[in-house]
Amino acid sequence: MKAALLEQFNGPIPVVTVPDPDCPADGVIIAVRACGVCRSDHHAWVGADPDVVLPHVMGHELAGEVIAAGPQCRGFTPGDRVTAPFILGCGHCRDCRSGNPTICKDQAVIGFTFWGAFAEQVAIAAADYNLVPLPDGLDFIPAAGMGCRVTTAWRALTDRAGLAPGEWLVVHGSGGVGLSATLIAAALGARVLAVDVSADALAKATELGATAVLNVSGINDVGGAVYDLTGGGAHVSIDALGTQATFDNSLRSLRKLGRHVQIGMPVGRHATVPLPLLDLVYARQLTLHGARGLGAAGFAPLLDMIGAGRLDPARLVTRTIGLSGVEAALAEMDAAQPAGVTVIDLARH
Ligand SMILES: [Zn+2]
Ligand SMILES: [Zn+2]
Repeated sequence: MKAALLEQFNGPIPVVTVPDPDCPADGVIIAVRACGVCRSDHHAWVGADPDVVLPHVMGHELAGEVIAAGPQCRGFTPGDRVTAPFILGCGHCRDCRSGNPTICKDQAVIGFTFWGAFAEQVAIAAADYNLVPLPDGLDFIPAAGMGCRVTTAWRALTDRAGLAPGEWLVVHGSGGVGLSATLIAAALGARVLAVDVSADALAKATELGATAVLNVSGINDVGGAVYDLTGGGAHVSIDALGTQATFDNSLRSLRKLGRHVQIGMPVGRHATVPLPLLDLVYARQLTLHGARGLGAAGFAPLLDMIGAGRLDPARLVTRTIGLSGVEAALAEMDAAQPAGVTVIDLARH
């Protein structure tokens, strides 16, 4: 098969021929039709993700069609249209059995701990536990973000923060996952203040339902600005980027009893941050959550909302590229990347 192969961190990602993946006994082989390009792929590309061993195929936001199923896979057969969460649970441990595969100690992470979906085919183990059938009305391109940014945003807002209609949500970072949070929160009836340094990203956030936007270029007191725009601080704030600055801004954006959710993965020098424990966490009585992925069993209510026409993930996608465009798309993340989400259309390579 053809795959975009990473042989050297920060290096080129040529499309080359590699061996087809072997089908796991309890898994499937998926012919990839579409795969999103995510900031986590950038972490992998530059060598900031400790799970990645070279040579490597990235790509974890896949949608495709089952072309082979192992003898122990009962629920899926060739021809099924599917996606999968980027964190695959083992399906057997106590955490998986209790519905929490994102904390499974034996988890596999697509495109990080094994070869991912910047390729014509990908192998998914424990398919009965991890695969998600795609509804007929959801095409491969818009479904490509379901395994990561859209479901992570969904879980952050619903399961973690318990965002209620009418509450203020502030989204720090209006990239793929931030825009997903804006789209979902607006559909849930919350008021959304989208924050970024890019006018294009904020225009996209407005298009997706943000109530207000804040361009923080040149603003020192982001928390104070959010306080004013939300009439006393947000009820829920998410750091959708994962830097010291966005984390700090997120906490300072919250009103008393507010809830912060860390979605953006903090890497390198951002991995450990100063925490204003007295003034913010203690005095404002804040709650801090982390959110990483969503298990397959949690997709149903989100897919129901999509099926009912209450939100449309196709609105996040602003560009499709071929496999050969992966390197350029990742390089753009170092500078001003285009607003919205880039998806690889495998039909284009
Ligand atoms: Zn991702
Ligand atoms: Zn497990």
